[in-house]
Amino acid sequence: MKYYDKLIFELSKPGRKGYSLPAGKWTATLSSIPENLLRSEPAPLPEVSEPDVVRHYTNLSGMNFGVDNGFYPLGSCTMKYNPKINEEVASLPGFASVHPLQPESTVQGCLQVYHELEKALSAVTGMATFTFNPFAGAHGELTGLMVMRRYHLDRNDLKRTKVIVPDSAHGTNPASAAVCGLQVVQVKSTPEGLIDVEDLKSRLDDTVAGIMMTNPNTLGLFETEIREIAELVHGCGGLLYYDGANMNPLLGKVRPGDMGFDIMHLNLHKTFSTPHGGGGPGAGPVGVSERLAEYLPDPKVTADADGVYHISCSSHAAGRVSGFMGNFSVLVKALAYIWTLGRENIRMAGPLSVLNANYIKESLKDVYRLPVDRVCKHEFVFDGLADTSTGITALDVAKRLLDYGFHAPTIYFPLLFHQSIMIEPTETESKETLDDFIAVMRKIAEESASDPEILKSAPHNTPVRRPDETLAATKPVLAFNG
Ligand SMILES: *Cc1c(COP(=O)(O)O)cnc(C)c1O
Repeated sequence: MKYYDKLIFELSKPGRKGYSLPAGKWTATLSSIPENLLRSEPAPLPEVSEPDVVRHYTNLSGMNFGVDNGFYPLGSCTMKYNPKINEEVASLPGFASVHPLQPESTVQGCLQVYHELEKALSAVTGMATFTFNPFAGAHGELTGLMVMRRYHLDRNDLKRTKVIVPDSAHGTNPASAAVCGLQVVQVKSTPEGLIDVEDLKSRLDDTVAGIMMTNPNTLGLFETEIREIAELVHGCGGLLYYDGANMNPLLGKVRPGDMGFDIMHLNLHKTFSTPHGGGGPGAGPVGVSERLAEYLPDPKVTADADGVYHISCSSHAAGRVSGFMGNFSVLVKALAYIWTLGRENIRMAGPLSVLNANYIKESLKDVYRLPVDRVCKHEFVFDGLADTSTGITALDVAKRLLDYGFHAPTIYFPLLFHQSIMIEPTETESKETLDDFIAVMRKIAEESASDPEILKSAPHNTPVRRPDETLAATKPVLAFNG
């Protein structure tokens, strides 16, 4: 243990201080607080000097791993590098200091951001219009399903209470449907990892509100039967919901609107340049086709003929889903990102993310088991090591990667395989980084035969080794009580 690994509470010495306040000023403020609201004893905070505090936080930041530290191939999460210029734009005072209750006339620039972003995202997705109110992908799913339900109710189509979800879907899909009061019906995948169209047909009737899908699906495979699926679902009166959390591979190539989808959400915090992980802030805008526009939740930004922006409501709206209008700074970053790249460069994001994923897949498929051996989109899934005789698990591989300075891929998801290792490199990585990663993954495969113990006991170089994950989730220790 290094001396500075001591916790800040252990460094505390009575009377030690890291601040000085102007004399007199604060006692006057204190005397204006009602007696019964005042503390009777000082809060149990560590008493430390300024260098103690600076070292504490600087060292803490070094215990974390982020995309600014290194490669972060966490499948289904699109942990790509987010250009710093977008942070700078979002922190301009005109954006960062507005209040949501300001009169329309004083926030025209901010309202223009909503309007321009709506135009840009509609162009990218083929949807007619967007709401920016949802705070996350799952929140967008719930909002989109509320729109779906509202549409059927408005047509007096009361029987439609079922939502079809593929067995490979992201866990939030069935969860959102259940929260929305809809019944989840699972549709099977074929051995090739695509939706089983025959199974889908057998589930379609006039009780189906719609289907929730993502394409490319959770295995990173493109659902080639999407046209037929859209015709079948529309034919029985249902709607198609597109989970666009993983829009990255499609950017500039394929549009959900053109595939026949009626409703979709995007994860701006995956595809459009907001750092994520650790819980937010995010944004899950929901786009819909023309016939569903009036059902989007309130409020919305509209522009009149004179180019003046207004905040407006619709009498058919599926209620409100958040206070005010979403996480504004995330929207600013998305617009800055799209405008910085421009129409031509944004077209490169999808193909490069697909190229990078296929490069890793092809370079490793002799040593890791590839259950579905096809051209993938932005991500793919291995099912553990090719050599299963060593007893090395996906968890062991993931932990060992940390020792080599890489973030682990997503493991044990999707649930279709026992040892899923889901890798998504994104377009922001260079060939050199991918080659380093491939070399380390091969090294780990070698170690699994020559020195399995080093994998079983990994990680060796991280501040926290291998915690009991069940205990950490069910009985977390969140406070210092030493
Ligand atoms: C990340 C993700 C979601 C959920 O998004 P959150 O912002 O975490 O709620 C939904 N679907 C897919 C496919 C995702 O990858």
